Formats: sequence, C-alpha cells, structure tokens
Amino acid sequence: MQRPELAATALWRATCPDGWRVEPINLGAVAAHLGVDILTWQPDDERLNGALIRSAKTVFVNATLARPRMRFAAAHELGHYVLGHEGDFFCPFNRYATLEREANRFAAALLMPTAVVKTLWLKLSDLTPAAKLSALTERLAVSRQALGYRLRAVGIAGETPASPQRA
Ligand SMILES: [Zn+2]
Repeated sequence: MQRPELAATALWRATCPDGWRVEPINLGAVAAHLGVDILTWQPDDERLNGALIRSAKTVFVNATLARPRMRFAAAHELGHYVLGHEGDFFCPFNRYATLEREANRFAAALLMPTAVVKTLWLKLSDLTPAAKLSALTERLAVSRQALGYRLRAVGIAGETPASPQRA
C-alpha cells in the first residue's frame, strides 16, 4: 500500500471511532485531530480549489465549489499537510505534479476508505450499477469522477460506466 493510502487510513481510523458507519467521512473531526483549521474563501483566481498555509495550520477551500469538490479540496490540502510536503500550496484543479498526485491519492483514500467503499458496494448489490454509483456519491459526498477513480483503485472495476477513461 502506498504512503498516502496508509496515512489516510491511519487518520480515518484515529478520528472515526464508529468506522464505516460514519458517512460521509467527518472531515471536521480529522482536521480537529490534526489541529488544522478549514476555512472557505473566494480566491481571485477561480481555478484555485484550495490552499494550505502550513505555518498558520490553515486550509482554505474555494467557497464557490460544489460540496463534493469542496470536501475533496479540503482533504487534498490536509494531504499536503499530513504527508509533510514542504511549504505552502495553492492548488488549481487537475495538476499532475508528483506532490499533487500524492495529495489527490490521500484525499481519495480519506474520503473513500477501502473498507467503507467495499462494504457499501456489497450492501447495495441489489441496485443497478448506475444506481449504486449514485447512492455511493451521495452517501460519501464525493463526485462521480472521484468515485470512478477510487473504485478502480480499490479493485472494483468494470461497473463504472460514468467514470473517466484511463489516460
Ligand atoms: Zn495540492
């Protein structure tokens, strides 16, 4: 298992004592555990999703984003913090630098823990694939795109018609 996945899983276990019964994942509890504040702001550059000011232990999230993307952005910035990425970050959507990818992996693992995703997928097995995807995005408060990637990452593939194609 990769470092972002391990770090996210450890943090989830430490902050969500009820485990998979807590949906969506309580990001406020995670941030409080880390001593990090999460605030919203409206950046001049609307392409910015989030920022981390490490010295202030503060994460900023673009207030104009839809809720799932706000949560992913917050988790992404917490990832930079937890993974010890040096300095401050101002993160636009869709960056492919190594640290950005690590923070994205962390965010996906934190918001969609493997155990939670697999448990829900089984519990919802009576539903059609499309209905399962809708139910999961709602219950976990994640975007369809993020869920599609995550399902592949945890080994649930081939039932994600709405997920993006592999590049
Ligand atoms: Zn970033």
